[in-house]
Amino acid sequence: MTPDVRDRVERQARAARATGGTTRGTMGPPSGGAGGAADATGEPAAGRVPESTWARALELISGADEVALACHVSPDGDALGSMLATGFALRSLGKRVVASFGDRHFAVPRLLRFLPGQEMLTPPGDFPAAPELMITFDSASADRLGLLRANVHAAREVIVVDHHPSSSGFGTLGLVDPRASATAMLAEQLIYRLGGTLDRDIATCLYAGLVTDTGSFRHSSTTPAAHQMAARLVATGLRTDEIARELWDRSPFGYLKVLAAAFDRVVLDGGLVWTYVTRVDRAAYGLPYAELEGIIDIVRRTDEAEVAAVLKEDDEGAWQVSTRSKGAVDVGALCAELGGGGHRSAAGFTSHDSVEETMARFRELLGKAR
Ligand code: AMP
Ligand code: MN
Ligand code: MN
Repeated sequence: MTPDVRDRVERQARAARATGGTTRGTMGPPSGGAGGAADATGEPAAGRVPESTWARALELISGADEVALACHVSPDGDALGSMLATGFALRSLGKRVVASFGDRHFAVPRLLRFLPGQEMLTPPGDFPAAPELMITFDSASADRLGLLRANVHAAREVIVVDHHPSSSGFGTLGLVDPRASATAMLAEQLIYRLGGTLDRDIATCLYAGLVTDTGSFRHSSTTPAAHQMAARLVATGLRTDEIARELWDRSPFGYLKVLAAAFDRVVLDGGLVWTYVTRVDRAAYGLPYAELEGIIDIVRRTDEAEVAAVLKEDDEGAWQVSTRSKGAVDVGALCAELGGGGHRSAAGFTSHDSVEETMARFRELLGKAR
């Protein structure tokens, strides 16, 4: 790192400690914290990341020549977008950046291949075994990092950037705000505080995170701060129509056939609607696992159901279960009991049992929750 960059980061860290105030860059949001304009929304400051924690994060980053970034396995737009956006900002500070996620089959899901910055990505096998400084994104626990879990344990410092209420407190420093609509909100704050500004690449990555986790500003997680952040991002000249098309409005033909198979066996069982997709369904059309992400959004529209679930068999034969609630049931707590996690209305878990056994356990817990 060049001396002037180190000076800038150190000045900001000192200013944060001295004033307890915000130390954002010139393009920062109107008020600090991932919760954004707390004054305008009346949202309490509780849950915000304390200024002293931000200052410590800047200190750790300032002292590192190389920063190793990781996000959760089977990355979604929030995980990958937050990581790559932060990678751009760190690179412009002169840091060496390596970024990865711990999937056995290391490949960026097709729907996220439009994201810039993929040259920063390295397969998990080439990730530093014991990084000096590691930053994780959108992962509530070290387990969610898959193959990179061991690297977390060996790293000297680990900054956790996340918004899951179930965040387990792993790592040596947590930039965690469960009220943030997306990890991308915390990443945006970090970028400003590092003295970075929004360019089109950073904005594209952050926007992908924001729209993914708010379901295009439809989910209950959508706050005024989410819309304010979107305005800042869109002002860089983003083609939001093209991003939406990449994320949700295209798929290979085989997707329609796999959907047809999944919907043919959909079940409405009391207030629960659910279905499953096997490896065999996908193999017939060469459809990658990551293409299944949107199926839950069609299943969950069922008027008669409060809770929706889709079991997706991954390439290893494990069932990745996506669950959604309309609000009355906390599926995040329910999935946590099954070894997974997530949010109140969107959560998931992994099962190595059969479809029938998996659903029997889920139904039993659901019965207790209602
Ligand atoms: P998905 O259904 O994959 O879109 O995931 C919805 C939410 O549940 C996300 O916030 C994930 O972080 C969380 N989630 C999904 N699968 C798991 C899992 N196996 N373990 C922990 N959290 C999960
Ligand atoms: Mn995620
Ligand atoms: Mn997220």
